[in-house]
Amino acid sequence: MGEMKPLKKGQKINVGETILEVEDLKMYFPIPQGFLKGSKPLKAVDRVSFDLKAAETLAIVGESGSGKSTIGRAVLQLLTPTGGKVVWLGKDLAGLGTKAMRPHRADLQIVFQDPLASLNPRMTVGDIISEPLTSLYPKMKKDAVRERVRQMMSKVGLLPQMINRYPHEFSGGQNQRIGIARAMILEPRMIVADEPVSALDVSIQAQIVNLLQRLQDEFKMSMLFISHDLSVVRHISHRILVLYLGNVMEIASRDELFESPRHPYTQALISAAPIPDPDKERGKARIILEGDIPSPVNPPSGCVFRTRCPRAQDKCAKEIPALDARGAKGGRLVACHFPD
Ligand code: ADP
Ligand code: MG
Repeated sequence: MGEMKPLKKGQKINVGETILEVEDLKMYFPIPQGFLKGSKPLKAVDRVSFDLKAAETLAIVGESGSGKSTIGRAVLQLLTPTGGKVVWLGKDLAGLGTKAMRPHRADLQIVFQDPLASLNPRMTVGDIISEPLTSLYPKMKKDAVRERVRQMMSKVGLLPQMINRYPHEFSGGQNQRIGIARAMILEPRMIVADEPVSALDVSIQAQIVNLLQRLQDEFKMSMLFISHDLSVVRHISHRILVLYLGNVMEIASRDELFESPRHPYTQALISAAPIPDPDKERGKARIILEGDIPSPVNPPSGCVFRTRCPRAQDKCAKEIPALDARGAKGGRLVACHFPD
C-alpha cells in the first residue's frame, strides 16, 4: 500500500497560527411558556469567546447540560448562532448558507459520542468512510477512493480487508475508529470530538485518545475536544476551557489549570477528579459544591456560578465578571470577581 497523497488544499497554515476565533457566541433556544404566554430563551451558550491554533487541542469541559455540544455544533454551523462570531481562517461563518459553507465543510469535521448510533447500519465500513470523499469529489475514480479508504483504515488501526463489513460486526472501540476514519478522510483542518470516548469502556478510552493524538501529530489538525471528564482531558489537551451554565469560567493551559486553578468552579472540578497517585489522592482536600445547577432558562443574575460559589459576595449578584486577563500571567483568562 502506497503512502497517502495529500488532498488538494488551498492556503498553507503553520502550526501555532490561529485558525478559529469564537467571539461572544450566543446560542439561545426559545422555550414556549404555555398558551398565549410567548416564549423565554434558554441560554445554552452565552457570551463565549475563545480561539484555537493550528495543530492545537482545546478541551471544553463542564457538567452535563453546560452547553458543550451546543458550542461544537454552533462552531460547525450545524446550528445557527443567536449572536456572536465564528471566524474561521479570517472569515465569519455565522449566517453563511449551505452553499457558502460548502467550501469549508471539508475542513470542519465531527466525531460523535456514540459510534454505533452515528453510523448507518446498512452501509459497509468502506461506504461509511468514503461518503464525505465521494460527495465532495464525485469524479474521483472508484479505485482511488477505495485505496484512500484502505490507507485511512490502517492509520486508525482497522484491518483494511474489513472494508466490506458492517458496523454491527465491530466492537464499540472499533466503531469509534470507523467514525474517526470518516471524519479524517478529507484531511480536515479541525475536528470537533464531542465526548468521543464517553460511551467506551475505560480500558478502550486510552487507545482512542492515543489514536487522536497520533493522527494530530501526522495531519496537524486542530481539535475541540469536548468532555465532562477531566481525567480524559488531562491526557489530550494543550489548553482547557471550563464551562458552567453556558458561560466560560476559565481558560488556561493544561498544566496551569491543573496546578493552579484560579476560578472556584475549576478548583471544585479538579478537587473532584481522581489523582493517579494514591498518596496524593488520600491527602487532598475535596471542595463540595452545594445545590444543583440552576436552569439555563432562569440563570442567576451577575455571575451564573454565584449561587453555588463558596466565595460569592454582593458584587457577584450585580455584575457579570468579564473574562479577562487582568492580573493573570501568560494570557490566562478567568471570569471571576475574586479569583485566586
Ligand atoms: P452538554 O453537551 O454540555 O451536555 P448541551 O449543549 O447538549 O450540553 O445542552 C445545553 C443546554 O441546552 C441544556 O440545558 C439543553 O437542555 C439545552 N438544549 C440543547 N439543545 C437544545 C434544543 N435544540 N432546544 C432546546 N434546548 C436545547
Ligand atoms: Mg453534550
